[in-house]
Amino acid sequence: MIKLLRYLKPYKWPLIAVILLAIGQSVANLYLPTLMSNIVTNGIAKFDTAYIWRTGIWMVLVTFGGVVCAILGIYYASQVAVGMTKLIRAALFDKVQLFSLNEFDQVSTASLITRTTNDTTQIQQVMVMILNLFVTAPITLVVGVILALNQDVELSWVLIAILPFLVGTIVFLLIKAVPLFTKMQVKLDKLNLILDENLQGVRVIRAFDRIKHEEKRFDDANIEVTNLAITVNQLISVMMPVMMFLMNISSLAIIWFGSLRVAAGTLDIGAMFAFLQYAIQILLSVLFVAIVFITIPRAEASAKRIQEVMDIDPDISDPKKPEKGGKIKGHVEFRNVTFSYHGAEKPALENISFVAAPGKVTAIIGGTGSGKSTLVNLIPRFYDVESGAVLVDKIDVRKMTQAALREKIGLVPQKAILFAGSIKDNLRFGKENATDKEMKRAVEIAQASEFIEKMPEKMDSVIAQGGTNVSGGQKQRLSIARALIRKPEIYVFDDTFSALDFKTDAKLRMALKSETKNATVLIVAQRVSTVIDADQIIVLDEGRIVGIGVHKNLMKSCKVYADIVSSQLSPSEIAKESV
Ligand code: ADP
Ligand code: MG
Repeated sequence: MIKLLRYLKPYKWPLIAVILLAIGQSVANLYLPTLMSNIVTNGIAKFDTAYIWRTGIWMVLVTFGGVVCAILGIYYASQVAVGMTKLIRAALFDKVQLFSLNEFDQVSTASLITRTTNDTTQIQQVMVMILNLFVTAPITLVVGVILALNQDVELSWVLIAILPFLVGTIVFLLIKAVPLFTKMQVKLDKLNLILDENLQGVRVIRAFDRIKHEEKRFDDANIEVTNLAITVNQLISVMMPVMMFLMNISSLAIIWFGSLRVAAGTLDIGAMFAFLQYAIQILLSVLFVAIVFITIPRAEASAKRIQEVMDIDPDISDPKKPEKGGKIKGHVEFRNVTFSYHGAEKPALENISFVAAPGKVTAIIGGTGSGKSTLVNLIPRFYDVESGAVLVDKIDVRKMTQAALREKIGLVPQKAILFAGSIKDNLRFGKENATDKEMKRAVEIAQASEFIEKMPEKMDSVIAQGGTNVSGGQKQRLSIARALIRKPEIYVFDDTFSALDFKTDAKLRMALKSETKNATVLIVAQRVSTVIDADQIIVLDEGRIVGIGVHKNLMKSCKVYADIVSSQLSPSEIAKESV
């Protein structure tokens, strides 16, 4: 929480306003009982109507001033709190942009969303409350006690007697409620996780008729959150009546003992009233201090979760002195690379060494889970290697800035992702200032123009959020066009062609050939037909290279490859390809 207070900095002036207004409010509150006591002792007791009027009007003015201070105070406090959380949210978002995929594997997306929305809102609410109370309550408490003692010392025994009960109740609630706040956020995370998974997988859930099951899962999580919230609120709802009871008891006691002394003539009736007012204000400020103490842990729980994200040191950061590339363009080299996912038992890649040269097509083939995607994800440095090195243009990727590295690469990921916006907007992801001509060319090569022409608004047709209004193959082709438009040095196609029918696949690769003539091309594939004429085929099995070479040689030397081929092609096709 303390660390997050740095986001208050830009709000220095509103903050000062809040403090000054709070002081004004306290002065008004503390001044009123004195005026009242004056009216009783100097006005009513002496039948001085003019004095009563004068002081009465003065009291109205002071009250009015207090109200104005309170309203403005809340206004500025809200401004500070809202502004502060805006900055926190922005900082969180910026931080998450720096995450490598490793960090996304660690903190779930659902949790990141709760932290950016719910947790910041918690902080905001608590900040408003704290800002309103943290000045007024202590001033009222301290000055109130002094002024009360000034009116009468003996009645103070009532306060002294009541305080232990008050503090006891507060401490009890504090101990009970605080752990629940932390628990609450965790449960909310879980709820969000289930909701997120549900919405993402809605098609699968319906297809497999798992609606009932998912409903129950959500209900369970929902009930947990609800029950916890009820417990927390029950605890807090006990506080108000108990406090009120204690306050009324003390009023009663003050009037009781006070009136005995008034009757005996040892106490002014005015002083008694003033004391009563001070006592109420003192007890109220103890209550407010308690509220602050109860809400701070709530904010603390949220602040901790926010700070956790802020404290994550992204695995991958830019080097201080990045190396500039030389003349070489598009050279990719793996030098004895071993890589494991966070928490995985065995490495996903082991001792991978190969060179992918410009102007050449390097194909990577292997069963699912053999590490093909993992391998290509190391090139744009989505993850860092465990040992060995990935070199692009003969420079270790860890020694370049991520921007410089990724600028060289046109990646078509295995799972095509499009963003809400027009087709053109999506293509401009590849190149910001792409001209219409460039875009047209890119979609033609990617074999996407045919279906785009059929869309009502052609290139300006809108892609729905998540790309739900285009088919898998269409999405894949647009995602290829997005990479092509960059004219990168290195093309990486991660299983891009398997979503396409054989004919489109062949046509696309034909068209690509001239486009990627001078570039380095890495194609990950499952289909033999996609890799068969590559300049170099790398065969992966359980994270290791079990064969590397051209089709003809691999057929003889690599059993894994020969098996894959014979499972996909007929003997006559194999014979044809081998000549
Ligand atoms: P392929 O693309 O060849 O199908 P992947 O490279 O996606 O295979 O996966 C290789 C292995 O790494 C698999 O065993 C998979 O379970 C594991 N793996 C992939 N992604 C992750 C991840 N984000 N976290 C942990 N393990 C992963
Ligand atoms: Mg894959």
